[in-house]
Amino acid sequence: MRVFISADIEGTCGINAWPETERSTPMDYAPYQKQMTKEVEAACKGAIAAGADEVFVKDAHDSARNLDPSELPECIRIMRGWSGDPLSMMSGVDKGHFDAALFTGYHAWASCGGNPLSHTMNLQNEFVTINGVRASEFLMNAYTAGYYGVPVAFLSGDKALCDFAKELIPGITTVAVNEGIGGATVSMHPKAAVKAIREAAEKAVKNAQNCAVPMPDRFDMVIRFREHQKAYSRSFYPGARLEDEKNVCFSAGDWFDVLRFAHFVF
Ligand SMILES: [Zn+2]
Repeated sequence: MRVFISADIEGTCGINAWPETERSTPMDYAPYQKQMTKEVEAACKGAIAAGADEVFVKDAHDSARNLDPSELPECIRIMRGWSGDPLSMMSGVDKGHFDAALFTGYHAWASCGGNPLSHTMNLQNEFVTINGVRASEFLMNAYTAGYYGVPVAFLSGDKALCDFAKELIPGITTVAVNEGIGGATVSMHPKAAVKAIREAAEKAVKNAQNCAVPMPDRFDMVIRFREHQKAYSRSFYPGARLEDEKNVCFSAGDWFDVLRFAHFVF
């Protein structure tokens, strides 16, 4: 059995502020880099206990060079850095005939109050919608998994995102390690989070067959940029249109066309 893990940091247990996500501020970053690695290790171990013999890990935050691979189980393969393909945080998921996709350290969507670090892809947009629903990176990446027929079995991150995931995929197993309140974060103990992720990931992988991603027939994406200048220039992407001076809209029936739009327009 093969499992794919996409790992972010802004939903890692206890994380609260941008310097804690950035290599350039090592004093703040180091504890969360470590915790991110421990959470991925826990998810890998859970997957292995459920029968996975290979776990493919995509380091999916910022430089994509956050995880310490030496701390992960030996059966993993890990993709560090960015290939430059539109799959982005899911790069590699198209290649492996995976039986389940797992997400760790994920965070709520742009403008959501459920995480002080909430955003979608970058900080240049106020929000993103897909078919009228505020879109997170999780939603986009779940659709990417679904596009390749991979069930989305597990998510750890903030509570707002876990609540959303349960609505999208009722069979998914989640661990809400953080809850955002304005600029604050209330979290579990980091060791308790690791324990919970280890146990939940095993349960999740065993339940993966109940976690198919519901794929819409059509995807209408809107990116609301913070700056009208940026929206204007990005609206020249083939097939895109500008609405309300800040909204760049794109519609397609094939999710990969949306991913390609996102790849060039975000
Ligand atoms: Zn990130």
